[in-house]
Amino acid sequence: MSQKSFQTLRGMRDVLPQDAPRWQHVEGAVLAAFGGYAYEEIRLPLLEDTALFKRGVGEATDIVEKEMFSFASRDDKDDGSLTLRPEGTASCVRSLQQHGLLYNQTQRVWYRGPMFRYERPQKGRYRQFEQIGAEVFGIAGPAVEAELIMMTAEAFEALGILSSVELQLNTLGSGGARRAYRDALVSYLTPFAAELDPDSQRRLETNPLRILDSKSARTQEIVRSAPQLPDFVDDEAKKHFDDLQQLLTDLNIAYQLNSSLVRGLDYYTHTVFEWVTSALGAQGTVCGGGRYDLLVELLGGKPTPGAGFAMGVDRLVLLHEAVHGAQDDEALDGLRAPVEVYLAVADESAQGVCLQLANDLRRALPDLRLRTHISGGKLKAQMKKADASGAELALIVGAQEMADGSVTCKHLRGQALVGAGDAGQHTVPMTELAAYLARSLAKSLAH
Ligand code: ATP
Ligand code: MG
Repeated sequence: MSQKSFQTLRGMRDVLPQDAPRWQHVEGAVLAAFGGYAYEEIRLPLLEDTALFKRGVGEATDIVEKEMFSFASRDDKDDGSLTLRPEGTASCVRSLQQHGLLYNQTQRVWYRGPMFRYERPQKGRYRQFEQIGAEVFGIAGPAVEAELIMMTAEAFEALGILSSVELQLNTLGSGGARRAYRDALVSYLTPFAAELDPDSQRRLETNPLRILDSKSARTQEIVRSAPQLPDFVDDEAKKHFDDLQQLLTDLNIAYQLNSSLVRGLDYYTHTVFEWVTSALGAQGTVCGGGRYDLLVELLGGKPTPGAGFAMGVDRLVLLHEAVHGAQDDEALDGLRAPVEVYLAVADESAQGVCLQLANDLRRALPDLRLRTHISGGKLKAQMKKADASGAELALIVGAQEMADGSVTCKHLRGQALVGAGDAGQHTVPMTELAAYLARSLAKSLAH
């Protein structure tokens, strides 16, 4: 009886070798765009105390209510429950706070890596997904949001998708304004409670701002006449928001004000923003961020302003593909790691010499992509493999070559094949091989 084979878990994805180049391209372009801003990388654990997210993200958020992968700790010393991180900001604050890097100083950091949320999987929504994010601590002015937004715009520009996304912007005002608005919204919605969708009914108690986001048509209709958040924003927060808009205008970054944009997380104050696209169906938000001046204090630190964003890399990859399609294959080709040289081992006794020779060549020609035949077999079969690998050149080392200290070089494609016979074949002394390959493949030598 044959053994059961395995499949990925629901919502988990493999990125196969054929798809990895686009991921490398997207991540590489985003990180290269960030590079110029001199933010520093921070690497954080995937697993944290569940209480960190309950407090940092908020008990009444979708993430904490229903999306966390949590399980019991096996270590008596822990508080009991551990969670695979659903987002990066709470961990980032935890870390900088723990290491004394927030008090009386500014920090600008970026992070990347997988996040985990127990969601209903669909296109653009997975249970493990990648984010690249950035956070700034210790700076209160709107130039922080402007810089963060500019960074994201630069990344989108580098990916050639800037014209496919729109920046939406809103302000939640200060913490006080947010609370006052919450109260007003609850007073307005309570008489309609029975008509709201079940999620919104629950949120009326726990997280009423989220009701503004509801997809239910009847709830939307009720919400249309609700008190408006901008009317509750105090003068200082208004000025912060106006100044940010002025900065964005000066920077030539187009935006759309969206007063129902509240974002799912509890920790935001003042600015919230999202970059959205219509090219991906329902999962249209490729990046979300904002200011969260209350978060550090909420997690046990001294009051410290903070702001940041997180991009969903899975959605950026989908968008990149939707925008560029096969057209971009040339840009991705350089990342596909094709084999350039295939080294055939014509005699079993040459295996060690071949492994060494291959490594010497790689050192001499750092860009060289050379695959050594390591699975034995007849020369004819090896040459078939060499051809199928796509290599330009096959190198052959057998008993004869070892005896003369030479290598047989065979051109597998293009011009060299014309005329057939041995025309495309040369014997090259091992000592001259690197120079010969450099000439044949137009590669530069390291030294
Ligand atoms: P959504 O409204 O789509 O659920 P969110 O508000 O929960 O998004 P954030 O917590 O702001 O998302 O995360 C930042 C970004 O990470 C999102 O804009 C999105 O691009 C990406 N993202 C979030 N959840 C997922 C997921 N389950 N699968 C893939 N990408 C995701
Ligand atoms: Mg979500």
